[in-house]
Amino acid sequence: MTAHIEILNVSKRYGALTVLDGLSLSIKANEFMVFLGPSGCGKSTLLRMIAGLESVDEGTISINGQRIDTLPPGKRDIAMVFQSYALYPHMTVADNMAFGLRNINMPADVISARVAEAARMLEITHLLERKPGQLSGGQRQRVAIGRAIVKEPKAFLFDEPLSNLDAALRVRTRVELAQLRNRVRSTMVFVTHDQIEAMTLADRIVVMNNRKIEQIGTPMEIYSQPASRFVATFVGSPT
Ligand code: ADP
Ligand code: MG
Repeated sequence: MTAHIEILNVSKRYGALTVLDGLSLSIKANEFMVFLGPSGCGKSTLLRMIAGLESVDEGTISINGQRIDTLPPGKRDIAMVFQSYALYPHMTVADNMAFGLRNINMPADVISARVAEAARMLEITHLLERKPGQLSGGQRQRVAIGRAIVKEPKAFLFDEPLSNLDAALRVRTRVELAQLRNRVRSTMVFVTHDQIEAMTLADRIVVMNNRKIEQIGTPMEIYSQPASRFVATFVGSPT
């Protein structure tokens, strides 16, 4: 079961600051949707609202026709991968990956099978008994992705997962994410300020700026028919 996500008239304010103003869009089941925009335009806030880590001030978010914005984060069947990895330093890689499943009392043999399978897919089987402090940045990011995969969620949310990696590793991990996407059939919502990441990974791109959506389209549409000067400049289209 994968998620069709419907965002309807969603607004978010922090005090006097309006971060998102009446945002509406829909993300298809199994779609790889990339939110692209400059720093501070509200990308992380939107992901955090989908995940339930931030409240929605106005509007609704639904998955497969059911409202989720009123559900607690643990009941949304969504997994989020953070830029900062957010691993538990005192736990092994295997325990980090298993932690969320143990919390919901999944049988131990199912947990081990899922951890083993995700580790194999991400080529981190040899790291399962290490602690995060004994891993490189790229390896930690794989563990963070593995922790999301074992949940078999309806949707994955990625908040700039590659931005802490050096340039070469970023390119390699980007390619691997594209491959992973073909093996894990699920809806993927990916936030970045990097145009190349957006162009290479996305089925469709949502270009955001200044509290609102500038354009939604396939990478080719965004590149060849930018809807505004902002989009043209930001994605580097020929003008
Ligand atoms: P992005 O991820 O696109 O860089 P964010 O969603 O992190 O943008 O932030 C959007 C705006 O909201 C920024 O101006 C940021 O400073 C502000 N903001 C984010 N979180 C908070 C918060 N908890 N309290 C106050 N302002 C916030
Ligand atoms: Mg952000």
